[in-house]
Amino acid sequence: MRQQGTGAWDDWRWQLRHAVTEPSPELCGYGLSVPAAEQVHRRYPLKLTPYALAQLSRDNPADPLNLLALPSVGELLDEPGMVADPFSEQTRAACCHGLKRRFPDRVLVMAHDQCAMACRHCTRKGLLRGAEVVRTPAQLAAAVAWVEAHPEVREVLLSGGDPLLLADTRILTLVRAFARLPQIDAVRIGTRVPVTLPMRVTAELARRLGASKKVWVNTQFNHAREITPEAAACCGRLVDAGIPVSNQCVLLKGVNDSVAALFDLCTGLQRVRVRPYYVFMCDPVAGIAHFRVPLRQARRLERELAVRVGGLALPRFVMDLPGSSRKTPI
Ligand code: SF4
Repeated sequence: MRQQGTGAWDDWRWQLRHAVTEPSPELCGYGLSVPAAEQVHRRYPLKLTPYALAQLSRDNPADPLNLLALPSVGELLDEPGMVADPFSEQTRAACCHGLKRRFPDRVLVMAHDQCAMACRHCTRKGLLRGAEVVRTPAQLAAAVAWVEAHPEVREVLLSGGDPLLLADTRILTLVRAFARLPQIDAVRIGTRVPVTLPMRVTAELARRLGASKKVWVNTQFNHAREITPEAAACCGRLVDAGIPVSNQCVLLKGVNDSVAALFDLCTGLQRVRVRPYYVFMCDPVAGIAHFRVPLRQARRLERELAVRVGGLALPRFVMDLPGSSRKTPI
């Protein structure tokens, strides 16, 4: 299947068509136990592109990138206090179809329910299937009308799922629909495509997104090794197009829970002109308890990292608390 270096490899649609979506014997070479993975897969499906698969280690099943991509029985542990939807995303009344509001000055538009990779640490891992997405022109018109009627909203977050898995025309339609409103200062796109499918961001798409002058991209690199030459080039295309790119990583046990790992990540991001913005504590979401890092350790990491990197490369350590109307510093 692997055709690295060929034209097909650089075609994002080819990558998606050839994504691994079953715990196949091919994955045994990466330390995966297929029977156990099948059990996990029934609850939390597996998906990764050939590009993402090529980053995994065949020698070390506990490699940070393997932990982020391959199912683990830890996902089936039912820990007290861990629930599918701690922030009531699913049950919170939508302002209109596919549009939700948690903070006064910004709204979330569900633009897609698919991702290039089923990240094992995803806080929405139980919520994406069947999510209410803005798909039709009528739904988009209703969402824009709702925002227009609420002038205090100045930022629109396109999220999902991954909005950048949509076709160029669809992404641009969504962006322009909100960017044309004078009240909107920023249309933020939440995407892991720079990490999991970097060839998706073509120079043409970056240029057309940048032309709106209002697009910001927030991505999520969690480990320095994810900053491959392809990923760096992807971020470069966005930044060169005038789009600010920031990184919101998640503090994850076994992945980046050391000062050395965070130092490498933050300095690596700065090197490719991506601003390390937030380090999030893991949300209390079912299926990711095995990734959680104790608060005391997170505070120590924050202190020690601040000694090693300057402000431009220093992210804020925060957590989302159910019921809170802001990101809470740890
Ligand atoms: S790309 Fe984001 S939303 Fe999609 S599975 Fe990964 S963390 Fe979850």
